Amino acid sequence: MGIDAIAGVGPSLRAKLARLGLRTIRDLLEHRPRDYQRPLGETAIARLRIEEEAAIAGVVRSATLRRARGRLTIFKAIVEDDSGGVTATWFNQPWLETKLTPGTHVRLRGMLRRHEFNVKSYDVGDAAATADFAPVYPASEELPAPRVRALVERALAWVRDVPDSLPSTLKERDSLPLRRDALVALHAPRSLEEAELARSRLAFDELLVLQLGIARVARGRDESVAPALAEAGELVTRYREALPFRLTDHQEHAIAEIDGDLARPMPMQRLLQGDVGSGKTVVALYALLRAVEGGRQGALMAPTETLAEQHFLTVESLCSQLGVRCVLLTSSTLTKDTHAAIASGDAQIAVGTHALIQEQVEFADLAVAVVDEQHRFGVEQRKALVAGRSPHTLHMTATPIPRTLALTVYGDLAVSEIAEPPAMRKPIVTAWVTAERSSEAYRRLRRHLDAGRQAYVVCPLIEESETSVARAAEAEAERLQRGELKGYRVGLLHGRLRPADRRELMARFKARELDVLVATTVIEVGVDVPNATIMIVQEADRFGLATLHQLRGRVGRGAEQSYCLLVSRPREELTDAAVERLEALVATTDGFELAERDLELRGEGELLGTRQSGLSDLKFTRLRADRKLLERAREAARALVDVDGPLSDEVEAKFAETEVAA
Ligand code: ADP
Ligand code: MG
Repeated sequence: MGIDAIAGVGPSLRAKLARLGLRTIRDLLEHRPRDYQRPLGETAIARLRIEEEAAIAGVVRSATLRRARGRLTIFKAIVEDDSGGVTATWFNQPWLETKLTPGTHVRLRGMLRRHEFNVKSYDVGDAAATADFAPVYPASEELPAPRVRALVERALAWVRDVPDSLPSTLKERDSLPLRRDALVALHAPRSLEEAELARSRLAFDELLVLQLGIARVARGRDESVAPALAEAGELVTRYREALPFRLTDHQEHAIAEIDGDLARPMPMQRLLQGDVGSGKTVVALYALLRAVEGGRQGALMAPTETLAEQHFLTVESLCSQLGVRCVLLTSSTLTKDTHAAIASGDAQIAVGTHALIQEQVEFADLAVAVVDEQHRFGVEQRKALVAGRSPHTLHMTATPIPRTLALTVYGDLAVSEIAEPPAMRKPIVTAWVTAERSSEAYRRLRRHLDAGRQAYVVCPLIEESETSVARAAEAEAERLQRGELKGYRVGLLHGRLRPADRRELMARFKARELDVLVATTVIEVGVDVPNATIMIVQEADRFGLATLHQLRGRVGRGAEQSYCLLVSRPREELTDAAVERLEALVATTDGFELAERDLELRGEGELLGTRQSGLSDLKFTRLRADRKLLERAREAARALVDVDGPLSDEVEAKFAETEVAA
């Protein structure tokens, strides 16, 4: 049922909830608390100790609301109990002014810092938010945790309508609670054990649905055949010689695994994981050339035009040396000629966006398909590339996924990993400064420009639509051009540029006709300009860990030492999670380590991004902790592949959802 069935939810609240991924009552019921309040007794105010979490209760004596710089507001109230008084502070909750008037009884949970009590949660009247084991929800700036909590409480009235699709034999065998009881316990546990039992029941459900879906897909795949390719030959030997570097051991290892797959009469289904800049494209091109030397075709599909064009530049410059013919196919280069070239086999390698999979495009003989950043495509699109044919398929991702998660989400894909970048590369030095010190960051950036290097400046991510992002980016580029970047040649890259303009812009940047590229996150993947050695990310606290890591990968592509400067809003405006993200980025450039960290900070569900298929929708699973549960779900799924009924419907619904999302 739609979320607006809840009293008090109108269009604006609905939009804010949707941005948290909460669209239905069921979504609210399944909104997993990030944490629970620890049990604590109440402390007398006079006995509060610095930096120790505590609960206090008292009466508000006086209160003030102050508006600081920007949108920051600070609400302070003097709260007293029999033992004494303390100043309690809240950030960015201006509405408290009318709620916590003098004389109000409050209960607060938080921590004494310096001389003030930083409030984490509060209650007026009955303790709910500050109670022991009270849930703490993932929230957003525009929708703070207390609002979310109140909505979840109201949603619980609908919990009886939640279906329970788990066969009762399974429930009995593993003594799992009813789904609705689990949901209630999730939001109002009497102990942490109860909360954990509830979570694992819900995690089991989602793992089972996932494993069932995967089992069905895998069964379908077992039935398809692909012609085995002959052994590696003369063309790939020349390819190795044409490369200006030696392949790393990791690349060689991946290539050997690919060769093994191609030699079998079943379609390769391999995931090639490697951090940005680790050298996946070189490996992908190897696979494509294996198709070509077998007298057949290869296709490389990328999720955006920018990325497809970048790949094309790389692929074509190598292929022209080898005498291999390639074409670029995107929605802006769709011509009869390209179609004809692909259909006749005259084009041996086609690089493109999902335009490659449009119906009109017919390959003469597609043998190897590479899907880059495959998590950005919907399942449908990936399926369409291989529909009616069964090429060997290599999926590439630069969002490193911990192996357990990869196995779960991609089921039975084989995984190759490029765990280390080419050795000559120096790790990027990352620094985090707050906005007050951004002028230093720009000074540093200008030093690089003066030394003949190039730079990126990434615009903050505030706007919602692609068009308003573009407009904001334009304004920002103009501002920089008049200020920090005065006298330098500045280009602007955003998602609303016409493809031809974007191509031209990228070519000019590559040719060093521009010093700085001001960009939105469209540079996130694929852009490869080794002379760009420094990047500033503005309002970096607004970006997710994975995005920041991807962005950072645009520098450090050459032999020069590169820098990434993260500029955030003032520290007191940042959430704890934002601080942890920024600290993690400064601490390491290892994508796998960051992925693990991200997993801890965000939970598995979001790891792959909201654009990912329903397959990634793991709200309750904690993969590292839940390995046993995963095994049980796998085993149960094997027994249930052919079962009809509510569970099967749920699997279909989930996988259909995925297709709609695509
Ligand atoms: P990815 O696709 O994994 O992000 P790329 O394949 O684009 O990485 O490689 C990044 C850069 O490193 C490219 O400029 C590429 O030419 C270079 N490169 C790839 N493999 C090697 C290697 N073995 N030694 C040196 N440089 C390499
Ligand atoms: Mg790449």
